[in-house]
Amino acid sequence: MNAAKPTPDAPYTTIIGLEVHVQLQTKTKLFCGCSTKFGAEPNTQVCPTCLGLPGSLPVMNRHAFELAMKAALALDCRIAPFTKWDRKNYFYPDLPKGYQISQFDLPFSSDGHLEVVDPKGAFVPRTVGIVRVHLEEDAGKSMHDEAAGTADSRIDLNRAGTPLCEIVTQPDLRSPQEARAWLNELKLLLVYLGVSDCNMQEGSLRVDANVNLHIPLPDGRVAKTPIVEIKNMNSFRSVERALVYEAARQWGEWQETKAELGRTPKQTRGWDDPAGITRAQRHKEESSDYRYFPEPDLVPVTVTEQQVAIVRAGMGEPPPVLRKSLADRWKIPAYDADVLVNQGRELVDYFEDLATRVGEGKVASNWMQQDVLRTLNERGGTIGEFPVRPEALADLIGRVAQGDFDTSRGREIFAEVLASGRSVADVVASLGIAAVGEDDLVALCRQLIEENPKIVADVKGGKEQAAAGLIGQAKKKNPNVNPGKVRQLCLDLIRGL
Ligand SMILES: [Zn+2]
Repeated sequence: MNAAKPTPDAPYTTIIGLEVHVQLQTKTKLFCGCSTKFGAEPNTQVCPTCLGLPGSLPVMNRHAFELAMKAALALDCRIAPFTKWDRKNYFYPDLPKGYQISQFDLPFSSDGHLEVVDPKGAFVPRTVGIVRVHLEEDAGKSMHDEAAGTADSRIDLNRAGTPLCEIVTQPDLRSPQEARAWLNELKLLLVYLGVSDCNMQEGSLRVDANVNLHIPLPDGRVAKTPIVEIKNMNSFRSVERALVYEAARQWGEWQETKAELGRTPKQTRGWDDPAGITRAQRHKEESSDYRYFPEPDLVPVTVTEQQVAIVRAGMGEPPPVLRKSLADRWKIPAYDADVLVNQGRELVDYFEDLATRVGEGKVASNWMQQDVLRTLNERGGTIGEFPVRPEALADLIGRVAQGDFDTSRGREIFAEVLASGRSVADVVASLGIAAVGEDDLVALCRQLIEENPKIVADVKGGKEQAAAGLIGQAKKKNPNVNPGKVRQLCLDLIRGL
């Protein structure tokens, strides 16, 4: 647990815990062979099992279990050698069986953590404990809005039975901003692992947030506002906004009522995004209301150490590990590695391809950050569709390194390659850029020195920076000269006079 410490500008500490549901990237549902593909005609991906028809029996999808285990291992959770399924009973139109198959007292994994860091330094690194990760099936979807013009509500059961991984954190987060950053880190991890596409628009990742305030009292005790669970947030930005709103609302309410210390039941509030407020919802069920009992139609699952080792071996490098290994491998600053890794696996692959061809991690990283990423941000799209491939960019960087032209000329060429889709060699030729030969360069520098006795005298007198005046003139005489080379050559010639 992180220590609760109010800051001078807030007379309370905000305590936040998260519950995240992610749909696993399987082809079929958790207990039947129906497709999980998003966007099909309603009720076309259903069968007797996921419709809960009498006589049907569930069979566990092993791949779903392995994906969930991958997520749990990356979160440093303990994997239980023995785990079972439970029925969570409740009545709701989108739940055809009248119960959901979930995990209650023996989840398949528990006790993990995931750290969130902020390279910009807006908050201190925070290690967030994971209480448990368990598997369950998703419910169907009620559609109230789609039936435009009528009061009908309809039901689509395509989603019923889709595998869900529920990740429950400790209440370790201390600000809405941290919560958003942590969710970004979790999403990045799950996408890297191939566990989920985490597409929030399609409902592949859903977040509930628990929040309350700890308020230190003059007598040394700490008042705790009732825990509120916020639902209905459809983006990480909404999560942050809802938490900011809710902390302020609880503070205002506490100041008015100065409610007595003690246990107050948890409340559920829904986030109204357009209005920017939370609204009270139904009373939250206690777990006893769900009458959990072991699922009689499924055998418990035993997991051997060997199975865990196989899943672990297939994990690759999750983001926290990759940031470090990328920085070590290519000798780039931690900040660079962080920016690259946060863009996703595909971009890291592009960078490593480029760095291998260029042979210089830092040079490749500079071009990635200043040119490739900036262009991607402006144009949108993915790195996979980026028109300048690593071999072309490496060719360009190589020519700059050889002194064919300088970096700013290189940027012009980059922009032209990007716009035209032609090769670097083609663009160099069409822009009339020719490498200036050594003899021509020496002749040019001699001429400049002759024409500028004042600058020469300044340089000889120890003012090396005066040589900048020569470079400007050199570029006027021949735009293809490399300024660095001109400078060095002029200084050498002047010293030799
Ligand atoms: Zn089915």
